[in-house]
Amino acid sequence: MLTERIWAANSLRNFHYLIACPETGEALAVDPLKWELCLQAARERGWQITQILNTHEHEDHTGGNEGLRGATGARVLAHAGAAARIGGVDRGLTKGDLIKVGRTVELECLDTPGHTMTHVCLLAHTEQPALFSGDTLFNAGAGNCFNGGDPQRLYDTFASQLARLPDATRLYPGHEYLARNLEFTLDREPDNQDAAATLEQARRHNAAEAPVTTLGQEKRINTFFRLQNPTVIARLRALFPEIGAHPEERTVFVKLRELRNRW
Ligand SMILES: [Zn+2]
Ligand SMILES: [Zn+2]
Repeated sequence: MLTERIWAANSLRNFHYLIACPETGEALAVDPLKWELCLQAARERGWQITQILNTHEHEDHTGGNEGLRGATGARVLAHAGAAARIGGVDRGLTKGDLIKVGRTVELECLDTPGHTMTHVCLLAHTEQPALFSGDTLFNAGAGNCFNGGDPQRLYDTFASQLARLPDATRLYPGHEYLARNLEFTLDREPDNQDAAATLEQARRHNAAEAPVTTLGQEKRINTFFRLQNPTVIARLRALFPEIGAHPEERTVFVKLRELRNRW
């Protein structure tokens, strides 16, 4: 599996991805908002974009569908429940579906509600697994729930699916928010040395060269995976005494998400 990350250089800080089969050169484009950049990247590598996948229905992920489909004839794939809202979807996806790219690439569709209720992530079971996480999981952060989401469901997705993936899994999110999210982690957990070191490193790179993290790393630097950390709980309790000394992970997650909304 060949993976190309494309930086949109827009104010929303989108990342697009091309996932290609090394044997046939067929490629799938993930959330290609700036579709011309994706097309150009594919041409430079001699790849043909045959599929477009939207992780969810928000315009900053679907807005390039028409242009890229017009230029390539690619089929559009999205969550079955989002298909009507997106329009022009050729294949509605449900949990466990397999998406083939060329002869060698197989991606598993995960049903991951929370940011919206119809959001998919893609999991590649490659030697080093890879997760294309849309707006569900970001580097050092979690998606917001402002536009059709639900923090309780987002917690369920984190706890029952994302936290269980192998530590070696490489993370490919829909936006570049690494430094900003690390600042939030450090606000909640000032003694987190890994987050401080990663922030220093992140500030040395521009967004186009942002490091790719693994889930193992995320568990150390992403406050939304650190729900039993004593510092996180103590600082949360200072703001929300009602959570008590031993809050459930779900409670911690939802309160953190609430704080991040106005942080
Ligand atoms: Zn979104
Ligand atoms: Zn987005």
